[in-house]
Amino acid sequence: MRVKTVIIDKSRKRQLLVPIVAMTLGALVLLVLVVVFLVDRFNDTAIKREQRMVESGFSQQLHQFNDIVVPQVDWDTAVAKIDRKMDLTFADLDFGHQLYTFDGFTHSFFIDGDGRVTYAYVMGNHPPFTSFEPFRPIVLQLLKPIRAAEARRGPIRPHAQGQGPITRPIQANGFVRADGKVYVVMASLVQPDLGMVQPKGPRASVSINAIPIDSTMLSSFAARYLLDDLKLAPAPDLARNRATVPLRTPDGTVVGALSWAPRQPGSVLLHRMVTPLLAAMAMLALVGWTIVRRSAVVVDELLASEMRARHLAYHDPLTMLPNRALLFERLRTMLSTVSSRRPLLALMCIDLDRFKEVNDTLGHQAGDELLKVMSDRLRTLARVEHGAFTARLGGDEFVLVALAADRDAIANLAQRCLGALLTPVDSEFGRLDVGCSIGVAMIDASVREPSLALRQADLALYRAKARGRGCITFYEQEMEAAFQTRRVLETRLRHALDHGAFHMVYQAQVDANGTILAYEALLRWNDPELGAVSPATFIPLAEECGLILGIGEFVLRRVFAETRNWTGVRVAINVSAVQMRAPGFAARMIQIAAAAHINPVQFDIELTETALLTDSPATMENFAALKRLGFAIVLDDFGTGYSSLRLLHRFRVDKIKIDRSFVADLGQSVEAETLVGAIVKLARSFHLGVIAEGVETEDQKDLLIAAGCHEFQGFLMGRPTSPASVNALFAETTGTMLRA
Ligand code: C2E
Ligand code: MG
Ligand code: MG
Repeated sequence: MRVKTVIIDKSRKRQLLVPIVAMTLGALVLLVLVVVFLVDRFNDTAIKREQRMVESGFSQQLHQFNDIVVPQVDWDTAVAKIDRKMDLTFADLDFGHQLYTFDGFTHSFFIDGDGRVTYAYVMGNHPPFTSFEPFRPIVLQLLKPIRAAEARRGPIRPHAQGQGPITRPIQANGFVRADGKVYVVMASLVQPDLGMVQPKGPRASVSINAIPIDSTMLSSFAARYLLDDLKLAPAPDLARNRATVPLRTPDGTVVGALSWAPRQPGSVLLHRMVTPLLAAMAMLALVGWTIVRRSAVVVDELLASEMRARHLAYHDPLTMLPNRALLFERLRTMLSTVSSRRPLLALMCIDLDRFKEVNDTLGHQAGDELLKVMSDRLRTLARVEHGAFTARLGGDEFVLVALAADRDAIANLAQRCLGALLTPVDSEFGRLDVGCSIGVAMIDASVREPSLALRQADLALYRAKARGRGCITFYEQEMEAAFQTRRVLETRLRHALDHGAFHMVYQAQVDANGTILAYEALLRWNDPELGAVSPATFIPLAEECGLILGIGEFVLRRVFAETRNWTGVRVAINVSAVQMRAPGFAARMIQIAAAAHINPVQFDIELTETALLTDSPATMENFAALKRLGFAIVLDDFGTGYSSLRLLHRFRVDKIKIDRSFVADLGQSVEAETLVGAIVKLARSFHLGVIAEGVETEDQKDLLIAAGCHEFQGFLMGRPTSPASVNALFAETTGTMLRA
């Protein structure tokens, strides 16, 4: 059980702590992700901006190349010396040589209106025209827009003197890969600037000039735009830390790409922030760790207090035995597995005998001490039995659940319980001697509900107690019927109280001369269905089910009303221990007495010894209040209870009534005479009156007189009679009664 609890708690602890740990880790991961995301976004934005800058910068570079050639091609002289007829010296001087020497164009060609190469210049030489071949594909692409623009421009009309150039430059450029290098190739239409010289045909010559994208060009470009590690790559460079701009021909073919190491402000920022960031993460981790540690402690405390609460909820705090709730829980599990197979499941209800007396006479501490010792004994007994355990239901009631091979084994265990609890307990309060009654139920497979199983054991216990102290009784089916009968009796009793179905009879108490001294009021119940039921049966039942207070009030009212006019005789009223224990009982009685205008001095209150065997403050107060008012107190059934001298000393009773069981034995056994004699002497020494009840024969009366008892009540003197009979007797013998 303990191992199971620990496992449950560990998993509960995990359940509670895992979210906190997960949240802390989550926060850390989120922080990292956010930083990475931001760095990436910063870098990305910066790269895109640099790419746009490089694109527009390079296109400006191309425009600059174009602009270099413009004054050479938009020139009447060029039309005359190139287009109309090829003047090699002019071409070298103003194109090939000049553009190579001053501007770095390594290749210069001319293409005439029919697309034929008319001039070739490559780095200070005149190679064969075949040197144009690598450039032919790109030139063909560039010629298309040039010829289209030329056609749009139309024939040239000369200008008047003094006006600006008559034409706009018609140019196109692109890239080509040749001899392992990438070239910027420009095609520029040769056209007049003032219109003095006209082109030879509808299509003029075109100047082709190429300049390699080499390290010189790249480094000056890089210096202008502050680019790091600018290179010409054969294809777009997709490396993470590189930016790239592809170089395309007009038909979209990529001939190479500019590639450089872009500025990455995000990475720079990250680099700068790495220390504070790590510190923040460490801080976060520390805070998370602290929270987890603290939470672990709090969770431990919570679980511990929950376990304590659970333990308290399932255990009796005095004896630490399982309580009713845990008993029911375990029983439910056991009952769900009970089958016709063995072992048999047995339930024992154990009730301590005389526990109440110990509690009432020696106090609650003694009672607690006794309960603890008894529960230890039961626990020890259960420990050696396989599958057995004990629980405390409350008060002095325990349950022992056991598994056994057969009924005999259970009977044997019950016997051992009886023996264990019978052994007196030596405590600081003296020797406590109680014993117990046991009801046993063998639970068959049809019983599935713990409450039913417990009820069977309880019914058996009820029977065991009814049979006397120290009994073991097994549950029998008929007990259910008896229980039902009791239920019926209880219902009828309730009905009787509601409908005033009771009446009183009165039994005379006389002196040795037969003079009536008093009448004891005795309650009678004639139920229309059950017939006459003895108070010996229904009074204890009324005490158990709480009806006695109502019944007691009925008795008081009725007796006061019926006996108000009786003069010269006392009237004795029986009052139950339960009434005496009820706070405010005396006050209520006084109210009723006042309402009935009776004089308390004429009344005896008959209490049994058990009514006074108590520390209950309410009993003491009730007792004192009744005495104060003048009621006399008679100790009824004296000798059957504790007959404690302490009791007589503590409560100033007025009279004791020798129990009829002793009277019945008078003349039969010497002990009875001795006992009666002792009781009479005891009464005398406490200056108490003494009366004997249940006197049925003259012999008993004589023996009582011999023992010193001179007041009697019993069938010999008269049976209980109706108040009307008593009234009639009064009418007859008024004089005698008054004289007495
Ligand atoms: P108790 O107070 O000891 O009453 C005396 C009982 O002995 C009465 O029984 C009475 O009928 C019976 N008795 C009287 N003389 C003789 C005799 O010579 N021989 C025998 N064998 N019995 C005799 P009852 O009326 O059945 O009452 C039984 C008990 O019920 C009473 O015992 C008392 O404890 C209780 N009781 C009766 N009426 C009341 C009541 O109004 N209130 C309370 N609280 N208890 C009552
Ligand atoms: Mg009585
Ligand atoms: Mg009695």
